[in-house]
Amino acid sequence: MSYADNYKLKDDIHMAADLHLHTIASDGSWSPHELVKNAREIGLSTISITDHDTIDGIEPALRSKGSDMEIISGIEFSTDYCRQEIHILGYGIDIYNQDLQELLSILQKDRVQRAQAMVKRLNAMGKYIDYSLVENIAGTGSVGRVHIAQALVKKGYANNINECFRKYIGNNTPAYVRREKLSPKQIIETILEMKGAAVLAHPGKNLNDDLIPLLKNYGLSGIEVLHPSHSIAQIRKYSQLAKKLKLLTTGGSDCHGAKGKDQRYLGTVKIPNRWVYQLKSFLASL
Ligand code: AMP
Ligand code: FE
Ligand code: FE
Ligand code: ZN
Repeated sequence: MSYADNYKLKDDIHMAADLHLHTIASDGSWSPHELVKNAREIGLSTISITDHDTIDGIEPALRSKGSDMEIISGIEFSTDYCRQEIHILGYGIDIYNQDLQELLSILQKDRVQRAQAMVKRLNAMGKYIDYSLVENIAGTGSVGRVHIAQALVKKGYANNINECFRKYIGNNTPAYVRREKLSPKQIIETILEMKGAAVLAHPGKNLNDDLIPLLKNYGLSGIEVLHPSHSIAQIRKYSQLAKKLKLLTTGGSDCHGAKGKDQRYLGTVKIPNRWVYQLKSFLASL
């Protein structure tokens, strides 16, 4: 039994929140409407949509939700610290803020250019895909490597998305192209300027723990303790660290829908409502 399961038994009725979710606005497979519907069906009462570098899924989700569901605005930024990719979640940001929208439109343009460069590399390797196919798959969403992977699978160059990341587009593979990313300091400061909470996403995935106090000095508000990639030992470690550094604790399933990335389904990680209250109190205090 995992720590999360164990926690669930003790605190079951109080665990109805998932604060890390993706939609078709980035590389998820559900529309915001479908996500809200599915979240309601499994009994979630609070969710946050945290698409990569975009907030476009939030407004449609707000329109779909009933009075029985709360949606906290969210986003997942990719940042770069000395070539280490660090994901930072932003909660409670004002999605109508002009500066935020300008920043996001720059990030979207970068994503398109980088995806085009990756397609060029793939073509040079004999994996012929047209950028328009990637564009069609991404639709109006924030274009990313998952969409390129879907195009490769569609063209028969790989059996699944994982294989594409392993062979062609994962970090340190031949067709991978780095995006110029903002630093964690810049992103944390931006989120705080938007009166949001800046939360370090899935630190257990790839992060050097020594960086966490540094991020705290930049103004980090919280740390994602519960995530499907975290072992029980990591969950304990990050809970203790959060306490020590006076950081909020959050968590979520990082669900990308019914297919695609890691098959992580909704409901695999729920967090105590207490954590949601603490996040909301923090946001209200800004
Ligand atoms: P990008 O933001 O375009 O660099 O794409 C990174 C995203 O691709 C991550 O946030 C994940 O959603 C997804 N991803 C990364 N590695 C894998 C993998 N091995 N299999 C499937 N999806 C992945
Ligand atoms: Fe993703
Ligand atoms: Fe992430
Ligand atoms: Zn995510």
